Amino acid sequence: MKIGIVGCAGRMGQMLVKEVLGTEGCELSGGTEGPGNSALGKDMASHAGLEPCGLEITEDADALFAASDVIIDFTLPAATANHLELAKKHQTALVLGTTGHEADGLAAIEAAANDITIVKAMNFSIGVNVLFALSEQLAGILDDEYDIEIVEMHHKHKVDAPSGTAIGLGEAAAKGRGISLDDVAARGRDGITGERKKGDIGLASIRGGEVVGEHSVIFAGESERVELVHKAASRGIFSKGAVHAARWTDGQTAGLYDMLDVLGFK
Ligand code: NAD
Repeated sequence: MKIGIVGCAGRMGQMLVKEVLGTEGCELSGGTEGPGNSALGKDMASHAGLEPCGLEITEDADALFAASDVIIDFTLPAATANHLELAKKHQTALVLGTTGHEADGLAAIEAAANDITIVKAMNFSIGVNVLFALSEQLAGILDDEYDIEIVEMHHKHKVDAPSGTAIGLGEAAAKGRGISLDDVAARGRDGITGERKKGDIGLASIRGGEVVGEHSVIFAGESERVELVHKAASRGIFSKGAVHAARWTDGQTAGLYDMLDVLGFK
C-alpha cells in the first residue's frame, strides 16, 4: 500500500515516516512540506533521523496524492481544504490527524467524505480511544451530582486549546448524559465566573515542556471523586495508530470514519 505524508518534516510527520518505513506491506510514496520550509529538498528519511530513502521532501502535493493510495495529514487546519480537493481529484483516502478545525472546516471534511474514505480522529492512540468509550459509559452511570471536569496538558509548542482529544472526551461524556457538549461546555474560566453550573462539563488546558499529551476526566461528587487518566509517553502511539488506520482504508467505501471504527469498537 502506497502511503504519502503531508507535513513530513513536522514532529508527527517524522514519526510517521519512521512508522511507514518500518511497517511491512507499506511503501512510502513521498512527502510534502509547506512553502519556504527549510526541509524542502532534503531526503525524507534522513530528515527523520534514518538512513536515506531516496525520496525528496517537495511542495508538490498534487503529485504526492496522485502517487499514493492513502495520505496521512498531521499539519495545520489551513492546509485541509487543499488536501480534501486533491484527495477527491485523485480518489486518494485520507487519514486526518490535524486538529483545531473551525465549524466550516469540519463541514468541508464531512462533505468530502461523500466522495472519499476519510479517517479523522482527535487522537489516534488505542488507549485514548478506550478512554473515550469509558468516559461515555461512566458519564451515563454517574448522574449530574458528579461534576465532570476535563484537564489536559501538552507541550509548549501546541497552538490550539483545548486539545482535540479533550474536546472529544467532552463530547463522549456529554453523549453519555444524552446532551450536547455545545450546551454545557465551560471553557477557559477566568476572573469572576460565578459558581459552577450544575451539568456543565469543564475544559481546562495546561501547557509546558515537552509533554506528549495527558488527559484526565474527573467526576467530582459530594464526597468522592472518580478520575480516568491517560498519559502518552511517546508520539509513537499516534503514528502507529495512524498507519494502522491508513492500512484499514484499503477497500473501504467512501465515508467519514474514526478510530473506534478502525479498532472495531463500533
Ligand atoms: P508540527 O508543527 O511539528 O508539524 C506540522 C507540519 O506541517 C510542519 O512541518 C508544517 O511545516 C507542515 N505544514 C503546514 N502546512 C502545510 C502544508 N500546506 N503542506 C504540507 N505541510 C504543511 O506539528 P505536530 O506536533 O506534528 O502536529 C501537527 C498536527 O497534528 C496538529 O494539529 C496536532 O494537534 C495534531 N496531532 C494530532 C494527533 C492525533 O492523534 N490526532 C496527535 C498529535 C498531533
